[in-house]
Amino acid sequence: MRPFKHCPWCGNSLAIRAMSAADSDDTRERLACTATDCSYVHYDNPTPVVAAIVQREDSVVLVQNKGWPGSFFGLMSGFLERNEHPDEAVARELHEELGLVPLSQTFLGHYAFDGMNQLILAYHMVVEGEWTLGREIAAAKAIPIAKLRAWSVGTGPALQDWLVRVRGH
Ligand SMILES: [Zn+2]
Repeated sequence: MRPFKHCPWCGNSLAIRAMSAADSDDTRERLACTATDCSYVHYDNPTPVVAAIVQREDSVVLVQNKGWPGSFFGLMSGFLERNEHPDEAVARELHEELGLVPLSQTFLGHYAFDGMNQLILAYHMVVEGEWTLGREIAAAKAIPIAKLRAWSVGTGPALQDWLVRVRGH
């Protein structure tokens, strides 16, 4: 994430400082406002992201978002809208990105994506029929479950756990 340089409350500069025990039990170093009369702290909390293992028959549909590096394909994913429940968000993303409506939808678990400061909420969705690529999607492909190999970061661990459950490895 691009760091802020200025305080969004008062416009003064931000600097890293150690929180003191006087503030709270929080003793981490955080980006905070340098103005003495301003208490803004940039907590940099993780952003939730919904992601889905989209299963069509014996395959999983992987997508390549526009702007992703190289030839990387991953699970369909997206951000929540304000006040949107993750269950609704993941179904909306499926419709926006692949033009599909899930026949079933199951929450699998949550996965930390430390490099991106995200918390991935992983789902399994069953679909049928042909997909149509949404505005943000460069390409999609269906990979047979028997041949699928998970990657190590991001949505990969969620896929890996699911593969172990459905095929034993
Ligand atoms: Zn400030």
